[in-house]
Amino acid sequence: MIKNIIFDIGNVLAQFRWQKLFKELGFEGEVFEQVADATVRGPWWPEYDRSRLSDPEIWEHCCALAPHLGPQVMAVFENIEGICREYDYARAWIYGLKAAGYNIYLLSNFGHTSFEIARQKFSFMDLVDGQVISYEVEEIKPDRAIFSALEKKYGILPEESVFLDDSMKNVKAAKSYGYHGIFFENQRLAIKKLEGMGVFAISVSQDDDRRFMKAALTQAKKAAALGEVPIGCVIVKDGQIIARGYNQRNKKHSTLGHAEISAIGKASKVLGDWRLEDCTLYVTLEPCSMCAGAMIQARLGRAVMGAMNPKAGCAGSVMNMLQMDGFNHKVHVTRNVLGEACAALMSDFFAKMRDKR
Ligand SMILES: [Zn+2]
Repeated sequence: MIKNIIFDIGNVLAQFRWQKLFKELGFEGEVFEQVADATVRGPWWPEYDRSRLSDPEIWEHCCALAPHLGPQVMAVFENIEGICREYDYARAWIYGLKAAGYNIYLLSNFGHTSFEIARQKFSFMDLVDGQVISYEVEEIKPDRAIFSALEKKYGILPEESVFLDDSMKNVKAAKSYGYHGIFFENQRLAIKKLEGMGVFAISVSQDDDRRFMKAALTQAKKAAALGEVPIGCVIVKDGQIIARGYNQRNKKHSTLGHAEISAIGKASKVLGDWRLEDCTLYVTLEPCSMCAGAMIQARLGRAVMGAMNPKAGCAGSVMNMLQMDGFNHKVHVTRNVLGEACAALMSDFFAKMRDKR
């Protein structure tokens, strides 16, 4: 079963648009060709990605390949920001795959400087579970070493991972290392190939997730107003909130007074069914063992959480009960939706409690 999706960046998540950059710099005809041969098409470009040499050393080698075009070659490096542009679909695609429970990693050949500049503009960096970029390990694809670095860093097993790259050479190499491989031509075909491997993204929008988490925060504030730990929850089916709940442990004198248990009970009443397969539960704090257990019992489709709970959370912190191999049901999980706002509500509450004492 595929658990990990590993993306190349260039021409997969972001366009490697060196030709456009060259045109923007005014290169034409022979100049265009010679600067390309001295830079992106030349022998030193892989070394730039590998970053064992310093930038000035690379510049010198590249300039030496076209001595009469020094300023043009340098202009490429000075304008390296323009060599890469994120595709419009990148963030939404990764968001949908993350929502479906896959781990997302980046494995890309990039020089140190160009990646540091590019990552500021990539909107998907906060969604991915990790990355190995060639300059970090001074190794480039398709070499085994850079794949090994990714496996070691994140405990990835190649047989549980699919690698997407626009270079056939890299895909073939990945397959020989035991990975599933997809030669990337365009997103539409890549989605088809992923589906052929049983990998389906969930169609969710980040805006919807934020909107429903806000509704859960409203519930959490109700708890706070009663002096209860501010945790709130809503359950959504077909784009509609069907149940709400907030923590009332003290008021009800009951361990069962958690927001999620309350909302799950109401949702089942509304639907006339204990199964919540097509529902998404939004909760401001990572669920405890009891609530995570209830979500599995309810066959919940998806759980979206705000802040994590390092000391008691059972959706990734203490353990990840929602996605354990031994159980007959797994819940799709999205973490850190309005996480800061959810965490702030908690810390404000406890700060006020301390002041009172
Ligand atoms: Zn709970």
